[in-house]
Amino acid sequence: MDPLVVANWKMNGSEQLLQAVVQQVDGLAEATSATVVLALPAAYLSLTKAFDNTQIEWAGQNVHWLTSGAYTGEVSATMLAELGVGWCLVGHSERRQHCAETDDMVLAKTKACLELGIRPIVCVGENLQERQAGKALEVVSRQLLVVLKDIPSALAPLIVVAYEPVWAIGTGEEASPEVAQEVHEALKHAARSEVKALELRVLYGGSVNEDNVKTLMSMPDVDGVLVGGASLEALGFRRICEQVAGSV
Ligand code: PEP
Repeated sequence: MDPLVVANWKMNGSEQLLQAVVQQVDGLAEATSATVVLALPAAYLSLTKAFDNTQIEWAGQNVHWLTSGAYTGEVSATMLAELGVGWCLVGHSERRQHCAETDDMVLAKTKACLELGIRPIVCVGENLQERQAGKALEVVSRQLLVVLKDIPSALAPLIVVAYEPVWAIGTGEEASPEVAQEVHEALKHAARSEVKALELRVLYGGSVNEDNVKTLMSMPDVDGVLVGGASLEALGFRRICEQVAGSV
C-alpha cells in the first residue's frame, strides 16, 4: 500500500498558504508512490478546483450525516462530492471533545461519506487518563469497531484510520514509534476480527514533524501520517512528504 500523508490545517491557513503548499508538494506525488491529501477548512475547499491539474488530493475536516436541511454552519457529503473532494476526516478528537461528537455520530458521518464515494479518515485515540489507566487499546478498538460493525464489509477497504492519541495532538509530545506500532497492530487485528482479511491502512497523528517522521514511518504498521501544526509551513511540510515517500 502506498504511504499516505494527510495535512490537517484545522481552522488555520489562507489562500496564500494554499498556493505555497501546492507549489511545494505538487509533483511529489507524481514522482513518488506517496499520496498527499490536504484537509482544508471548508471555506477553502472550493479553491481547489484551480489545482485540478495536480496530483494533490483534498479532504474535508468534517461532514454532517444528512444531505441537506436546517443545520446552520454544517457541510454535507453531497457538497463535498460536488467540489471533487475525495476524502474527509471523521471523528477528530477536537470535534469529539469540543463539539460533543459521539461514536454514533462518527458512524453516521462515515456512512454519509461512503454513500457519496468519499473516503473517510476515521480518527481514533485515547486521552491521557485512559492511557495511564492501561485502557488505550480498548478505547481505540471500540472507536473503530463501532464503525466497522455497521457498514457493509465491501466498503470497509475504503476506510483509513488515523491513530491520534489525544495527549500527543498539538503538544509537541509524539507517541514513541513503539507505542504507535503497538496500537496500529492492535487496530489492524481488531479490524480483521470484524472484516476478514481487511488490509486496514492506519496513519499516525500527533506532533509529527520533519525530525520524527522517518522513525515513525519505519514501523511496519505505520502506513502514513496525519500532520497538524507542521503542515502549516510549506517547505517543512514538503520535507515531511519527501521522507514519507522515501520510506517505501
Ligand atoms: C491533528 O490535528 O490531527 C494533529 C495531529 O495535530 P498536530 O500534528 O499539531 O499534533
